[in-house]
Amino acid sequence: MKILLATSELTPLVKTGGLADVSTALPRALRKLGLDVRILVPGYWAIKTGLQHITHEATIDLPGFPRTQILLGSLDGLPVYVVECAPLYERNGSPYADEHGRDWTDNGLRFALLGRVAALLGSNDSPISWRADIVHANDWQAGLAPAYLHFASGRKPAVSVQTIHNLAYPGKFDASLVGAVGLPPWCFQSSGVEFYGAFSFLKAGLYYANRITTVSPTYAQEIQGPAFGCGFEGLLSGRRSVLTGILNGIDDQEWNPATDRFLPHRFDAKSLDGKARNKAALQRRMGLEVQSDAPLFAIISRLTDQKGLDLACEVMGHILWRGGQVAILGSGDPWLQDWLRYIAGHNPGRVSTWLGYDEGLAHLMEAGADFFLMPSRFEPCGLNQMMSQRYGTLPIVHAVGGLIDTVEDGVTGFRFWPFSTNSYRHALDRAIDTFYQPQALAKMRTAAMARDFSWTKSALTYRDLYASMLG
Ligand code: ADP
Repeated sequence: MKILLATSELTPLVKTGGLADVSTALPRALRKLGLDVRILVPGYWAIKTGLQHITHEATIDLPGFPRTQILLGSLDGLPVYVVECAPLYERNGSPYADEHGRDWTDNGLRFALLGRVAALLGSNDSPISWRADIVHANDWQAGLAPAYLHFASGRKPAVSVQTIHNLAYPGKFDASLVGAVGLPPWCFQSSGVEFYGAFSFLKAGLYYANRITTVSPTYAQEIQGPAFGCGFEGLLSGRRSVLTGILNGIDDQEWNPATDRFLPHRFDAKSLDGKARNKAALQRRMGLEVQSDAPLFAIISRLTDQKGLDLACEVMGHILWRGGQVAILGSGDPWLQDWLRYIAGHNPGRVSTWLGYDEGLAHLMEAGADFFLMPSRFEPCGLNQMMSQRYGTLPIVHAVGGLIDTVEDGVTGFRFWPFSTNSYRHALDRAIDTFYQPQALAKMRTAAMARDFSWTKSALTYRDLYASMLG
């Protein structure tokens, strides 16, 4: 089985969120099962400088796009095809926006090319010696791949899977782009790529893919209704027979407290002394009072409305009143950054906010904190709550999506519902009460650390899905 996973992010080279982690960890797990999985990514600087053994595979001229090269490189043994097109990808800034956070105005063309090349590598006209049987598109950025395959001429092109990592990003562009990127103009209709008057790349993927997956079973149910469907609920409930929720895993080598290269003190479930020492190290690093008997809460997050951190700000006073401390690592919306900075400024030694992206600090926070706050309004899967449990840090989560599927209330963490300060405060009180009962805390930590969040099980489910598609 030859599978091409088309994605716009790849840990550790280009990452803005969980998509990057999945794009590396899932192919690794599938290759261990013997599947020939290869990745396709845009040729950003970080990709071209980060991959090993890069070779040139083909030069292609696709109508509507600048001349493009296909390269093949390796990410520690993982084969990665690169869509090299300097005018579109070699820029400073993030994969989607410039240094000031403004979306690139040509994102439509940039990611149409990703989908176009993915489809080409799954067609009989593949310009390289390898041809995919299945093209697996991820999020809106690769969403045109299933549409291109649907309209491909020639014999039996690859079948396609569209995975939703986050339905809140439909990837909307002007209708005029449909023809410009080589799709038939008549597909701009509600039975096609049209979405509330715009050309949506995600809609293209969801409409034309042979199968749809999302990243947790609960989210797969939720998105078929208006509360979480982001306007796609009609399409998704209509296609529910081809929609599956497969839980993400975490990279259990990278996120292992017994071997973690970022930690000053390693530990495991049998000996938690190292965890206590990491707590002191974290408190020192974040400028918090070094106090072992203060419950320490961590937040690591993109600072966006989705993550519900406004609710966390509102209950911060309650945490402090109960003797807690809060360590925050994140970047994103300026209004949230300002709010978090303001709270930290007024509570020195008790709340510390670190704005930016810091992989090493994220590891230390997972290891050193007692609790992890994740009040997401919606959460397709979420990775941090799984990483936390692996490190004996009990997550306190809003009961939605993947958070329901991965956190057992009162056993490995705490869930609250509905999304209100009252119910959140109640869950925080339960957590803090547990903190002051050492035996109960130890029991929950042991249960959390025993959970298996590796990719092994999910990779088997993906393998079965692929196999069923090829009949
Ligand atoms: P999402 O993909 O919605 O951002 P996930 O929980 O699925 O949320 O994945 C987030 C990933 O990004 C995790 O690996 C998390 O540790 C990491 N992360 C988020 N923000 C930061 C940050 N500021 N510094 C370091 N890592 C971060």
